[in-house]
Amino acid sequence: MIGVGTNSVDQVVSLPVDVAAAVDAGKARIVARVSLCGGQTATVTAACARFGLASRYIGVFGSDEQGAMIERALHERGVDLSRAVRSDAPNRSAVILLDPHGRRTVLWHRSETLRLPPASLAGDALRGRVVHVDDDDPDLALAAARQGRAMGASVTSDLEHPSDSVETLVSAVTHPIFEQRLARDLAGEADPERALRRLRRLNGGLLCVTLGEQGSAALDGDRFHHAPAFPVEAVDTTGAGDVFRAGFIHGLLRGWAVPDRLRFANAAAAVSCTKVGAMPSTPTLDEVDQFLKRR
Ligand code: ADP
Repeated sequence: MIGVGTNSVDQVVSLPVDVAAAVDAGKARIVARVSLCGGQTATVTAACARFGLASRYIGVFGSDEQGAMIERALHERGVDLSRAVRSDAPNRSAVILLDPHGRRTVLWHRSETLRLPPASLAGDALRGRVVHVDDDDPDLALAAARQGRAMGASVTSDLEHPSDSVETLVSAVTHPIFEQRLARDLAGEADPERALRRLRRLNGGLLCVTLGEQGSAALDGDRFHHAPAFPVEAVDTTGAGDVFRAGFIHGLLRGWAVPDRLRFANAAAAVSCTKVGAMPSTPTLDEVDQFLKRR
């Protein structure tokens, strides 16, 4: 699989109270803070590599210590970085506020100069069975989705941001995997089934949406599937969506039926919620299998 998109170094700050309570109080003493590797597509490629898939990451690293840190983390996980580039700018970073219930608020920054040159997608860079894109840079995502599709790949996506091009992007991929707020906003409908049915106008393929503690759902042709989440003691949901997408890609490549794919992806994501961070929380296949056996 080939992931085209963002990476990030996340400063995870654990709060003793909900974010709203900290804002109300005006001050809060933090419980812990730690710098961990993440970013949507980088985490998806790392999670796919942990599942044993040949994974390539195409994106930009900054020239600072954080850029070196995330490059090393992906390399150590066996992700192919031959098409990734380094740019003379600070790496993309985020501050993630983690409340005592494992819920997170992400405050992120990306330098405008941190952009992947279009040449990085040239030649056989996107020759693979699955191309995965995020919408951190919608123009890049659109180019990668169109090119990957033209080369015969299935194209999965992590779409979060409402933008002028988001509908074009939804139509360009083969398997849009929405984050629930975007699905709701694009469809003007909160109910996941009705939202996906409305979004059918944009894409005739399998439409999927992640629903946090409610699990996930998909519209396959005219058939709607809902897969409940696995209840776990969540300490940090950062990266759960990325691990879900890696699980979905794993099931897609195995040719699993949609309900089995959603169940496996929910289980992988649930395991990741029991650990802090995005990339450090990606489980192995064995961990997910053991988890499913116990349930
Ligand atoms: P994103 O918004 O990043 O796409 P979500 O927050 O919807 O991701 O979570 C992705 C997946 O992680 C969900 O579909 C679900 O399977 C799992 N998940 C998220 N939160 C929890 C939780 N509290 N308990 C168990 N599983 C969870």
